Amino acid sequence: MSDCVFCKILNKDIPAEFIYEDEECIAFRDINPKAETHVLIVPKEHIDSVMEMSDKDEKLIGHLVFAAKKIAEKLNLSGYNLQFNVGKDGGQEIFHIHLHLMSKFA
Ligand code: AMP
Ligand code: ZN
Repeated sequence: MSDCVFCKILNKDIPAEFIYEDEECIAFRDINPKAETHVLIVPKEHIDSVMEMSDKDEKLIGHLVFAAKKIAEKLNLSGYNLQFNVGKDGGQEIFHIHLHLMSKFA
């Protein structure tokens, strides 16, 4: 999606502080962190939102949570929150699915 900020980050057209990558997803620090540690885990495939998911995406969503676990271990986080904002009324601002990993620990 040419007008999608996260697709632009994935294509390296916009810089980001990357901290993780695998075959399915990428993770980088949120530009406007709401916690000491705030990382966004973003699938390489553009899907607008959890609301737009189809059956084929079930595994991918599990993959994002598993990536969050690995990142939290890498960052030595002893506890954290995982959050999807879904739809405009759910506070979603960027319509490319992403999982927020937030922790009060740095
Ligand atoms: P959401 O409200 O769930 O759509 O979250 C979007 C998040 O993306 C917000 O926390 C923003 O601070 C973050 N964000 C927006 N633009 C960028 C960017 N260029 N690099 C990193 N994070 C971004
Ligand atoms: Zn996108």
